[in-house]
Amino acid sequence: MKKLLKYLNESPTVFFILKKIKGDWQLEYVTENVIQIYGKTADEFLSKKYFHEDFIHKVDLIKFKEEASLISKLKTNEYTYKPYRIVNNDIVTWVSHTTKIFRDQTGKQTYYYGYLTDITKKQELYNELTFKTDVLDSIFNNSFNLILLLDKHGKLIKANRTSLEIAGLEEKKVLGKYFWELPWWKHYNSTEIQQLIEEIKLVQKGTCLKNHKYYFNTISQKIEVDFCFSPVFDEQTNINYILCEGHDITQSINTKKKLDQYMHIVNENVFISISDLSGKIIDISEAYCRFTGYSKYELLGKNHSIFKHPDNDDYIFRELWDTITSGRIWKGEHKNIKKDGSIYWVENSITPNYDENKRIRGYTSIYNDITDKKEISQLLITDYLTKVYNRRHFNTVFDIELKRAKRDKENFILLLIDIDYFKQYNDTYGHDEGDKALVSVANALKYSLNRATDFVFRLGGEEFGIITSRIDNDGALSLAKKLNKSIENLNIKHIGNSISDFMTISIGIKVVSYDSKLRKNDIYKLTDKALYKAKDLGRNRSIISEE
Ligand code: GH3
Ligand code: MG
Ligand code: MG
Repeated sequence: MKKLLKYLNESPTVFFILKKIKGDWQLEYVTENVIQIYGKTADEFLSKKYFHEDFIHKVDLIKFKEEASLISKLKTNEYTYKPYRIVNNDIVTWVSHTTKIFRDQTGKQTYYYGYLTDITKKQELYNELTFKTDVLDSIFNNSFNLILLLDKHGKLIKANRTSLEIAGLEEKKVLGKYFWELPWWKHYNSTEIQQLIEEIKLVQKGTCLKNHKYYFNTISQKIEVDFCFSPVFDEQTNINYILCEGHDITQSINTKKKLDQYMHIVNENVFISISDLSGKIIDISEAYCRFTGYSKYELLGKNHSIFKHPDNDDYIFRELWDTITSGRIWKGEHKNIKKDGSIYWVENSITPNYDENKRIRGYTSIYNDITDKKEISQLLITDYLTKVYNRRHFNTVFDIELKRAKRDKENFILLLIDIDYFKQYNDTYGHDEGDKALVSVANALKYSLNRATDFVFRLGGEEFGIITSRIDNDGALSLAKKLNKSIENLNIKHIGNSISDFMTISIGIKVVSYDSKLRKNDIYKLTDKALYKAKDLGRNRSIISEE
């Protein structure tokens, strides 16, 4: 008996006996290990200093009392309470409580044996599992994906909320049906249904499948889904379930369709090309291919310079590369050539393209054909007969170049040129010959100048102007003398010219220093005065204004 008591006191189970005295259960015995759960000794309970119920967690106490009153009415003699918590200060212990009731011959309850076992570990594990199951349930139901769980035969055993709500279905009406009989596919024809059966068969053999399906939602909109079937294995690698997951891709499909439409429109109507870092063409629109006369095949892999016209100032392309390689957008105009050699002008906007590491991986160019505009604006500044610039453009360039020369601290030089005895020439050789001579003189002037910043204008009749920069008086004079020579060397017979057998010109020159106070009109008048002096002094010469 002593041995038994020792064993009881050392076991994890608290054992106690209640005795019914005048209708009340009174504690008769409790093992010493009660202290481990309650923090109070057996004597403290036996002397009624403490009562078991004082230690039950408030939340669990109501339930416990309900169960206790139930027991007293029970015919059975054994009962196990729902696990509840004993609170000793801050320490919470989950216990399993089993009772055994003894009766006398008349059936009246006499003794009550109780066992309390600490099941905290087990209960915590249980709680954790319940929590995890709740989380899984919530993920299952709240997922935006359509999730269906089938048994190994392909019958639906669970459908998540999304799948039911989107199709306006009730779970109890679909559970137990074979996958291919489910209302999601009610619009499928017999071939498509057969396909579903075959798919399930494959999954039953252990294959994971991915494919595309569609169904209609409650407002008859077509819902496109990426469907994934996967077998769920048990530990013995038998297939227990089949998991079907549908990911709604309606929006991305619609977006892609729209994008394809836009891309088609762009491809057919916009001049656009994409290049790598070196300017090699990696994509180009059909519209631009058609416009330039090349096939896409001929252009892919070629450098963009295939379109470049040699007339373009190199400066434009240096600036272009500087801009785009530093990650900025370049906008500008340049002259290009088509496959058949014809010229066109484009307004070009080049944007750098970046990779995911924000490094430039190429460029997109969008072109606008501005050939017509260019031709019109060219016409507006060109003299119809000689094709050098006209008087209108002279006024523009005069202002720009004068300003620029002042800013760059350079000399600005104006030359006014007039053909000698031209009235006489017309009278002798006729007006048409006069026109031809004007063209020859204009060309000779143009080709005698070789800098991009030298401009030749026909100012009217047989008068021309030249604007140049960066030379001093001596330089300007020798340039003018060279012009005198080059015109005389054209050997245009002119018997009415008293100073030469051939056509000659007289030139007035003005060199304007950057710090000069002279205004446009003054400069023009002084140069014209120098020209008259050249005429007065006998023609076929150049006079520099010293004023
Ligand atoms: P000077 O040496 O003093 O300059 O004598 P000039 O005869 O050249 O003098 P003037 O300025 O009086 O004559 C200019 C002539 O140029 C008058 C006109 O017949 C001729 N002319 C002006 N425009 C044209 C043109 O477009 N075509 C032709 N063929 N002749 C023109
Ligand atoms: Mg004249
Ligand atoms: Mg003249």
